Amino acid sequence: MLVVMQAHATAEQVRAVCDKIESLGYRAHPLPGAERTAIGITGNKDEVPAGAVDEMPGVQEVIAVTKPYKLVSRDTKPDNTVIRFAGTDATFGGKGLAIIAGPCSVESREQAFIVAERVAQAGAQFFRGGAYKPRTSPYAFQGLGEQALQIMAEVREKFGMKIVTEAIDNESLALVEEYADVIQIGARNMQNFSLLKRAGRTRKPVLLKRGISATLEEFLMAAEYVMSEGNYSVILCERGVRTFADHTRNTLDLSIVPAVQRLSHLPIVVDPSHGTGKRNKVTPLSRASVAVGADGLIIEVHHQPDLALSDGMQSLYPDQFDELMAQVRQIAPVVGRTVPGIGMHSPYSSVASDQANERPSALAR
Ligand code: PEP
Ligand code: MN
Repeated sequence: MLVVMQAHATAEQVRAVCDKIESLGYRAHPLPGAERTAIGITGNKDEVPAGAVDEMPGVQEVIAVTKPYKLVSRDTKPDNTVIRFAGTDATFGGKGLAIIAGPCSVESREQAFIVAERVAQAGAQFFRGGAYKPRTSPYAFQGLGEQALQIMAEVREKFGMKIVTEAIDNESLALVEEYADVIQIGARNMQNFSLLKRAGRTRKPVLLKRGISATLEEFLMAAEYVMSEGNYSVILCERGVRTFADHTRNTLDLSIVPAVQRLSHLPIVVDPSHGTGKRNKVTPLSRASVAVGADGLIIEVHHQPDLALSDGMQSLYPDQFDELMAQVRQIAPVVGRTVPGIGMHSPYSSVASDQANERPSALAR
């Protein structure tokens, strides 16, 4: 059920309706929009009794949401969700594309800093790096754990990028939540419902990757799990699905981008690195992702991919990432988007531009 408030409804009226819903044993999710606030009602009991809130002051109408996903649905919230970060103009779902780049795994402080410097200079506002790695083999590198989180905190400090990193279970989530700006839930955990609920109780945005064989509805229901616990900052991520095709590691399903945008207000980014598994296909599919309307990209970059402890085959060299950004900068305006400037958000680059003295701001961008 969805309670649509009148455009001029006051904050007190919204609160009174929420209190009433909660007093009946349901959960109320106030979702402010550009025009008016809607209040989603969830709970695993029967329908809310007719007339319970219809006549309350400020209520315009009460409507049934027929789709299985409720809070995720555009029926509930027609305006796109835009996720913002204090102190930067980086967004997910805004006009500017969100560019996330970095190594698959944080392997050492030196490695993280070398890659971070390059991706920050190229314009990435978000640094990715795995601290906890979900590996097919128990004998493969499993990540540096909290040490990697500490290194990424230093990367944030030095380069001004926000940190995106994966939590693989409740235990790692508690630590990731402390250090990261965005908590990644990986493809293998897309239907780990207890982890999704736990992520729903954090205050940090969640980047939810599509499961290896998840349908659109399963993907949206996974996001619904996070939102149902009160965390409305969910970013969807297409990262390829398993098919018969064997010329790539996975098949990048770009058609899911407009499909998601039709049904949901949540931002969706694309990961062409895991989506193809092949370095030579990452840039072409990045161009296509931007053209199809994705809200951002997540790209694996390594200065020595041949020596990488995970996913070297799909990691771009820093020079290739520069080239990718140059190409994306040309495509973005065609679809009405902008791409962050060269290091414009980074305190590191402002040090660099101070040294360059009087660098015209147009060039700095
Ligand atoms: C990753 O981002 O390094 C990763 C393991 O991704 P996925 O869950 O999409 O395989
Ligand atoms: Mn990886």
